[in-house]
Amino acid sequence: MPVDVLAIGAHPDDIELTCGGTLARLRALGHRFGIVDLTAGELGTRGTPEIRAAEAQKAAEILGADFRHTLDLGDGGLRRGREDELKVIDVIRREKPRIVFTPYPDDRHPDHRRAGQVVTDACFYAGLRKLETAHPAHRPQQTVYFSTFLPHPPQFVVDVTAYIEVRRAAMRAFESQFHTPGSVEPQTILSQEDFLAWVEARSREHGALIGVPFGEGFRSIRPPRIDDPIKAFEGFEPGF
Ligand SMILES: [Zn+2]
Repeated sequence: MPVDVLAIGAHPDDIELTCGGTLARLRALGHRFGIVDLTAGELGTRGTPEIRAAEAQKAAEILGADFRHTLDLGDGGLRRGREDELKVIDVIRREKPRIVFTPYPDDRHPDHRRAGQVVTDACFYAGLRKLETAHPAHRPQQTVYFSTFLPHPPQFVVDVTAYIEVRRAAMRAFESQFHTPGSVEPQTILSQEDFLAWVEARSREHGALIGVPFGEGFRSIRPPRIDDPIKAFEGFEPGF
């Protein structure tokens, strides 16, 4: 059964931190979605692949994902050669998403950059009928980008206010990665006490752009079609 959305990140937790609220919202609207992590995060400073896999499954259940799969493209050196690109192409063909969410192909983390690049290319190539993999050709309607660490001005923002608690719960599932008082594991950007507040600060900023408490902003290769521009900008200037 095809999914409406496939969210493809480099590491377990990339998706929750960037588009978790949007996925929970899509779920509430009755859409099906799956999550694909291109790596198991085996080179992550904290936790083990087993711990991260269990955390990732729990987070996916909290968001309401239909499935979560892991590819093995190599954490800390994510590969995007032809062989690996074909694996991504075949996953897209197998799940037949209408929309694919993936990292914007520009970030401080090379794995995020490479994930955005390989997924962008794979989404296009997946539609080439004469290119053979295990599943028939399928091209998603659009590749949609979320920013990971570096900010990029969003082209559109989804109101996730009603789903912020679900996203918080999904993020908290990644216990090994985030701040734990008394933990003797090495510190990372994610494990700093302020990290989750920084993530929410971005959601606050994106929310402010559309006049709601929490938003998730995105970019896409082609702009979204707006059916009612009046409704799309309703409430932007309260009092007028
Ligand atoms: Zn990551």
